[in-house]
Amino acid sequence: MTEDIDIKQNICPKCGKPTKKGLCPECRIAETEWLVCDKRVQCTQCPTCNSIKNGAIWSDCNMETEDLIAEIALSAVHLHENMNDYNIQLSHFDPSPNRTSVKIKISGEIYGRHVEDECRTLIVWIKEQCDRCSRYSGGYYAGVIQVRADGRRPDDHERAVTEEIATEIEDSVQNAGERLSFITETKNTKDGVDIVISSHNLGESISREIKKRLGGKVTKHPKLIGEKDGRPLYRITYLIRLPRYQKGEILYSKGKYLEVRYIESGLLKVFDFEDGMLKSLREDEVERSVGNIRVVENALVTHTEGDTAGILDPKSYESREVLIPKWLHIREGSEIRVIRDPENDLLIPVG
Ligand SMILES: [Zn+2]
Ligand SMILES: [Zn+2]
Repeated sequence: MTEDIDIKQNICPKCGKPTKKGLCPECRIAETEWLVCDKRVQCTQCPTCNSIKNGAIWSDCNMETEDLIAEIALSAVHLHENMNDYNIQLSHFDPSPNRTSVKIKISGEIYGRHVEDECRTLIVWIKEQCDRCSRYSGGYYAGVIQVRADGRRPDDHERAVTEEIATEIEDSVQNAGERLSFITETKNTKDGVDIVISSHNLGESISREIKKRLGGKVTKHPKLIGEKDGRPLYRITYLIRLPRYQKGEILYSKGKYLEVRYIESGLLKVFDFEDGMLKSLREDEVERSVGNIRVVENALVTHTEGDTAGILDPKSYESREVLIPKWLHIREGSEIRVIRDPENDLLIPVG
């Protein structure tokens, strides 16, 4: 190595200042585009539900406006890969209703020197109705769930459970990102409940859960309504027929009070309040329905004697005598649950 070359390596070829190797840090920084900032960024947002469109894909946006502005502004900033320990500060104002101007201040370290600079980006807000909202407003639907009951009308409890299941499942599929699965309309009619749904998946899930919780049968009735991208398009009616007798219903048959526990191959499996045994019962053996185990009264036990107990009628406060079922342990001064049968003027201990 000659002395000449050594001197060249030790001074900056640009400014002549001494340096270890090549350009000095200042000249190197001056030549480096360490901050690049896009002048404009676009954001397409649904004016109804605030969903955001990325490319062709819509997704829900749960961010506060401030956070959304920050995220979009930062997407406009491109920093050199050698930047370290940087700090970014944002401030913004809206020059017009659909524009937000963001000032971005950046400081950091590059090639061992502190640098700072600022730039400005303009967020252009584009309002566009999202896929979901346009389906909503267009009244789009893929099917109807019809909840009916066998030989009777669904009662208030069954109607409430149905609506609860429907909204629970709608929420869970929405949270799982199935944007286009939603309930278009719920109609509570004389005959039952109709739930209008926007996807077959929602129809399947809701009808399956109603059957699981309330029993009954589900039948599906598809109807061809057209074609999309060469594939047939169906609307499906999910007909749920709730059983004639509900789980928990108290039935009267041949002088006995029985609670429906479940239904198995067409037979009612019932709990006999007299002997505490589980029995099978045919529907045609049922004389009448007395009530439901959900609706019981609490009666105070005033005394017991052998297999009878004195209880206080919770409505009239008259003393009544009831037979103590063998399966039930009754203590004086405690309360027992009773079902009222006005037809036979009886209170039946049920627990
Ligand atoms: Zn230099
Ligand atoms: Zn929307």
